[in-house]
Amino acid sequence: EQWAAAVAAVRSAGPDDEVQLICHVNPDGDALGSMLGFGLGLRRLGFTRLRATFPGEFVVPDPYAALPGSDLLVPEAEAFDDPRLILVFDVASESRLGGLAGLLTAAPCSVVLDHHASNTGFGMVRLVDPRAAATSVVAEQLLARLGVPLDQEIAECLYVALATDTGSFKFDMTTAAVHELAARLIATGIRPGEISRRVFDSRPFGAMKLTGEVLGRAVLEPGAAGGRGMVWTYATLADLERHAQPPYVLDTLIDPVRSVADADVSVVVKQVAAGEWSVSLRSKGAVDVSGVAVAQGGGGHRLAAGFTGYGEVGEVVDGVRRLLDAFLN
Ligand code: 5GP
Ligand code: MN
Ligand code: MN
Repeated sequence: EQWAAAVAAVRSAGPDDEVQLICHVNPDGDALGSMLGFGLGLRRLGFTRLRATFPGEFVVPDPYAALPGSDLLVPEAEAFDDPRLILVFDVASESRLGGLAGLLTAAPCSVVLDHHASNTGFGMVRLVDPRAAATSVVAEQLLARLGVPLDQEIAECLYVALATDTGSFKFDMTTAAVHELAARLIATGIRPGEISRRVFDSRPFGAMKLTGEVLGRAVLEPGAAGGRGMVWTYATLADLERHAQPPYVLDTLIDPVRSVADADVSVVVKQVAAGEWSVSLRSKGAVDVSGVAVAQGGGGHRLAAGFTGYGEVGEVVDGVRRLLDAFLN
């Protein structure tokens, strides 16, 4: 009945009503892809006043800058003041909406599309499916129920979202249904090879050099996580500056770190400001890292989670290390 409520919520808005789409701070491929794909779907339904945004600095990572529907994107300050309908994508908790949380509270109607197990249950209509591999899976289902056929532009957005959140169809959530959806998206005529090159394999030289440096200082602690091991590293704002790179180039740094066979848990601590760090956690199964993240005020999934940490790097890592045993599976 949440599906019926979501369809009714969208249909309750007229073509000239203001509809605001929002996704989480520091948006990733799923946040932007599901939001823009759905926005294009609303445009096909005849909606004319659509804006899409996310909180914080208005930086769209290069890999997603050419997504179809990017013309819908506006900085946070240019969001509608009093939209008729708000749609929220890939947001586990209101804290991930920064200054846009107030807009959501004030809206007469809101629909939340998400797939985080840690979703805190905000918004009026909640389409939250923790078994979905990406928010774009939920977005596609709602588009189908609204009678919007997939076209190449919508498909490219949803495909980028699906490919990024499944680690290019490698992670546990990669079910037959995920591949069936991918097949339907590809059948519209999009080119997975080209899209993958643009999204995953188009990094600046400086990003590669920075990654090398940060990986070079990684520490392996074989005794942590119930003897299953933890590997961690960190990157500072000075590191970014030295290589002239924006913070988002570190979004994928966790991937080589998590590939280490000697550790179940991997941690990347990225400086956001003096004494403030964005922490990425991954597990291969021994630890429920979303528990660790929630205990630190963050959230995420069982095998992939994150939080904001404060103090020195060592203190932030201590905080994780101390919690691991409490969340052993
Ligand atoms: P990543 O490490 O790629 O930034 O995030 C991994 C997962 O953890 C994502 O599903 C993301 O939504 C969640 N996550 C990361 N950082 C935070 C945070 O600060 N708060 C919450 N609630 N979730 C986070
Ligand atoms: Mn996300
Ligand atoms: Mn997601």
